[in-house]
Parts: sequence; structure tokens; C-alpha cells
Amino acid sequence: MLTVGHGRQKRFLEKSHLQGRVASAYAFIGREGIGKKLLALEFARGLLCKNYQPFGCGECKSCRLVDNFIKSLREGETDKFAYHTTDEGGKKHFAFLIGEHPDLILVPPDGNQIKIDQIRELQEYVALKPTGRHKVVIIDDAGKMNPQAQNALLKTLEEPPPGVVFILIATNRGELLPTILSRCQIIEFQPLKGEEVEEVLTSVGRDIPQTLRELAKSKGSLAVLRLTEEGEAVGEMLALLGDPKTLTYGEIIDLSEEFEKLPTEGRETFLNLLEELLTDKLLRGEIDTKTFESASRYISETKRGLKRGIKPKLAMENILLTLKG
Ligand SMILES: [Zn+2]
Repeated sequence: MLTVGHGRQKRFLEKSHLQGRVASAYAFIGREGIGKKLLALEFARGLLCKNYQPFGCGECKSCRLVDNFIKSLREGETDKFAYHTTDEGGKKHFAFLIGEHPDLILVPPDGNQIKIDQIRELQEYVALKPTGRHKVVIIDDAGKMNPQAQNALLKTLEEPPPGVVFILIATNRGELLPTILSRCQIIEFQPLKGEEVEEVLTSVGRDIPQTLRELAKSKGSLAVLRLTEEGEAVGEMLALLGDPKTLTYGEIIDLSEEFEKLPTEGRETFLNLLEELLTDKLLRGEIDTKTFESASRYISETKRGLKRGIKPKLAMENILLTLKG
């Protein structure tokens, strides 16, 4: 298996598969970057495997098709899998990702939200019989379903079509409606252990700046890997943030410019990391509560603002000026 760690969760899923007690919906809950999506894909591979192997035999045609999909997703090649629909005005809308395997789809947010139209599309998708025993729908970042989308999905979860398995991925329970959660088998995931993080970082084969390496290990999350493609710049950004009070105005401008250059997802990840760094600092007494609270407020506002298209550079300048004090 590609998924590192999470032995208890894997054993639970394996058992439910072997005993024929697969739920019609799962909620995988846990922090960003610990392998929930990968495990969901590997669980799906097992459900679809022609040789009935939990997590897949890796050899049958079905497993090979799922593996191709996983490989492309990990390499960021998602464009060629995007399934679109067209409305009456002839406008194209993104619905979900589908690889060569007809019984597996992945539904990520379209922009910053999972929209009701995407849920309607997946409802049409699950209404058609699977080619084998199962059809698997993975909803990634399920917390980004807006309320209408969650309510629409709820109807399907209440009367799931036979053989269909939903896997909802979210960072915490609060992101999903209690009514949705009550329809799901909830599986909680813990942060990875230091040695598990090290194992993955070593296998990546890219140069990973020391600050990112340490942060990943202390957080038990590989979310930072998303930032490693930006390499040195992000490492330097985090190093500079080690002692924000000593930042010069020049450094604040540089940092804010680097932040603006990050891809959208990277910016969100960076803000999450920054929040965690600050929480650590607060606990160690390196920053006071007042600074922490104002910076946290700016960070939350920035996260929401980025979705509405505010200027990343200005937002980061505000955060850093607050930290400088
Ligand atoms: Zn197989």
C-alpha cells in the first residue's frame, strides 16, 4: 500500500471488507495532509478489485485502472480526468474527476465550493448500475459542500443505491451537517508519527528545506509537501517567521510577495501552517495572547478573503505587521 501509517483505520476497513459489512457511506476525518484521500482511493481499489482483495490485488485490470488514476492524481494531472456538463446556455461546468475506471469518481471543490450542481451530477452517476459489485464516490474536502449541496447529498445518503459507497473526506466533524454524519461510518485519523513523516519525505526524492521538514514532523502532517515544490522560498519564509518581532519592513514586503506567488491551495496551506506555528509560540510564551488573537483574526479573514479575491500581498502584510507589533 502507498498509504503510510494509520494501522488501526486500515485494519478496521479491511475487516469490514472481508466480513462483507461495507458501509454505504464513510466520513474520513482528520487534519490536512495525513493521507486520508490516498487511503480512500486504496480502499476503493479493494472494493472494485476482481480478486476481492482488501485494498486491491494490484494485478487485475480493475486495480491497474485505479492505480493509473491514483498515479495521475498524485502527479497533479487532473485536467484530463475532468468531467464537465453543459447547461442550456452552452456554458461548461466542472462536475467531478473520472479516470478510466467506470466505477470510481472523485469530487473535489469547483473553485472554493462543492456546488449543488456537482451533487446532482454525482446523483445521476450513482443512479446507473455499477459494472462490478461497487461504485465508489470520493468527496474530497467535503466540508466545502455548501449547505444546499449537503442537503442534496443527504437525500442520496438516506436512500443509497445498491453497491454504492461514499467516502467523505473532511478535516473536522463540524464541517459536515450532523444529519450527514449520522449517515456515515465515521473514521477518525490521527497525525502521523515523526518516523512515518520522515519515511514519506525521504521517498519523495525532492530537496525539502529543513524548516519544512521539521514542521512536517512536529505536525505529523504532509500538507507541507504541497509547498515543497515552491522549494527554498517557502523554507525561507518559514525560517523568517521564526522570530516575527525581528522582521524588517523589507522582509515583510519580500515575504508578502512570495506569499502572493504561491498557488491558491498553497496559500491556504501556508496560512494553516502559520496558524499552527503561532499556536506553538503562544504555548511557549513567545508571543502574547493579544498579538496571537489579532494575528489569528487576520489569518481567518485572509482565508475567507482569498476566496473572494482579496489581494494576497496586502493581506499578508497586515498579518506580519501585527506579528511584528
Ligand atoms: Zn485487483
